[in-house]
Amino acid sequence: MKFAELVATYDRLDATTKRLEMRAVLVELLGRLSPDELGEVLYLSQGLLRPEYEGIELGVADSLAGRALADAVGAPEPRITAAVRASGDLGSTAEAMLAQVPPNPPPLEVTEVYAGLYAIARASGEGSQEAKVGFLVALLRRATPTEAKYILRIVLGRLRLGVREMTILDALAEKYAGGSRAGRVRVEAAYNVSSDLGLVARLLATEGVEGLGKVRLEVGRPIRAMLAERSPDLADVLERMEGRTALEYKYDGLRVQAHVFEDGTTRLFSRRLEDLSGQFPELVRDLPKALVRRPVIVEGERDPIDPDTDEIRPFQEVSRRRGRKYDLERMQEEVPVCLFLFDVLLAPEGPLIDRPFPERRDRLVQLVTTDERIRVAKQQVVASVEEAQAFFDESIAAGCEGVMAKSLADGSAYRAGARGFWWIKYKREYTQGLADSIDGVVVGAFAGRGRRAGRYGALLLAVYNEREDRFESFCKVGSGFDDAGLAELPKRLGPFELDTPPEDVVSGLTPDRWFRPALVLEVRGAELSLSPIHRAAFGEVRPGTGLALRFPRFTGRYRDDKGPTDATTAAELLTLYRSQVKQPARTSEAAAGA
Ligand code: AMP
Repeated sequence: MKFAELVATYDRLDATTKRLEMRAVLVELLGRLSPDELGEVLYLSQGLLRPEYEGIELGVADSLAGRALADAVGAPEPRITAAVRASGDLGSTAEAMLAQVPPNPPPLEVTEVYAGLYAIARASGEGSQEAKVGFLVALLRRATPTEAKYILRIVLGRLRLGVREMTILDALAEKYAGGSRAGRVRVEAAYNVSSDLGLVARLLATEGVEGLGKVRLEVGRPIRAMLAERSPDLADVLERMEGRTALEYKYDGLRVQAHVFEDGTTRLFSRRLEDLSGQFPELVRDLPKALVRRPVIVEGERDPIDPDTDEIRPFQEVSRRRGRKYDLERMQEEVPVCLFLFDVLLAPEGPLIDRPFPERRDRLVQLVTTDERIRVAKQQVVASVEEAQAFFDESIAAGCEGVMAKSLADGSAYRAGARGFWWIKYKREYTQGLADSIDGVVVGAFAGRGRRAGRYGALLLAVYNEREDRFESFCKVGSGFDDAGLAELPKRLGPFELDTPPEDVVSGLTPDRWFRPALVLEVRGAELSLSPIHRAAFGEVRPGTGLALRFPRFTGRYRDDKGPTDATTAAELLTLYRSQVKQPARTSEAAAGA
């Protein structure tokens, strides 16, 4: 395929935020690609060169890209810099400047652009900057203005077409799996296990749905995380688990999926499938010692502990460390962390994800040589509310945020990428009559007044509605931000600014500035109420009303580990709302006791 055709498609995708329209454009695009081009195009469309987990970054800074553009059009660099300042975007500047220079023949092919970008990403070591500029210049010289715009956006990591994985999966299912519900489920299942859209697409295109049977769990390739439902009380938990369940401490840290290869090489992945290996060298060092029978894939929660008392410490201590590459050693001594393993997905004998949980847990215990820093999550099988309560209290006393109940049933396989009642979380907040914290997606901001004039004063937050694949507002939050936090908001939100309301966002409020749903942050509030203005779970409780969080407050915790579709869902909010209504006595009792 000619690159010009692809960028024409990008222009169409860029012009819409409607999921159905995007899907139709993608289906059409799929029809025009050869199997070899499929993967490349799908990665590129998400601003990537390879699946996210491979961590391949283009790593081109604005200055370098500016230099390449100057070279390609034969203009002095200061002229480019001035033009970028005026347009605000190197891509648009390139588009304008290249309009004066005819592209060198022959027209670019998609595979050539991909190869050029890959070479840029791979150049490393001495002279790599020059090499990167060289590859980029070669591409730009042959690019039309629109092509240049997109090439630069991709190399700078600013493509942002807003095409989500779920939309791509929809398109793949429609194109190759007959558009049936069962087909869609199989396509998603293959993605959940491989985390690689390109792989799924290639198999579909060459072998059809049956080809997906080849997708296996592989060491080094993360599997999408299994997620938990929540429940209002322990009696309900036990009822759902048919009277007997394994309760585990619910550690409040960072989820880590660790892949230990046969030779001990270890790679760590976040819940969002990002490679964390570089961030946690101590785990990369310690895990192979604790896991001597290999290869294995295990999952756990990384939490700071107090070395003197063994108590689990608040999340903030880990988050402070995240992203701070310097001074790592000192921090490691100050804030020792522990990885509490709670599942094993692959053992030396093969994949275990289809095995029931009790079997996986037994295997986990056998495989791990526990040491100070690598442990197995504390667990107890309970069969009564009293036992459950005692274990819950113990977990709170140990510094955890609650318990995770896990099904012991035959069907308790590891459900990659799925949320269900096989795992149920029950947290301390519920017992205090407060709503659980909510992870909201920022979709808009309101200009501040008074002391906050000239800044954002409040944010419009939304939950994710999985069924509709859209974001529904549930609160406007202004409290919980200190001055420094407020000052930093424009920088955090800048990349997501939009001039028009995003079509995948619904709210009865009109903020001063809209954002593409991307940034997730945690809020708490007094209670959930019905609202004519907000649109979360709209019409589910009463026609014409949505759910709103009263007295929302930012907890100070950005959920950088979550993407927009990992935020709290409208369905979860509805469950929270119902659990509150169902238990008025509990709420007021707790409030009176507080
Ligand atoms: P939440 O983020 O509130 O939806 O809770 C689910 C998260 O709890 C998981 O993604 C894990 O990161 C974390 N977690 C803590 N302890 C456990 C455990 N014992 N089993 C499973 N997940 C756990």
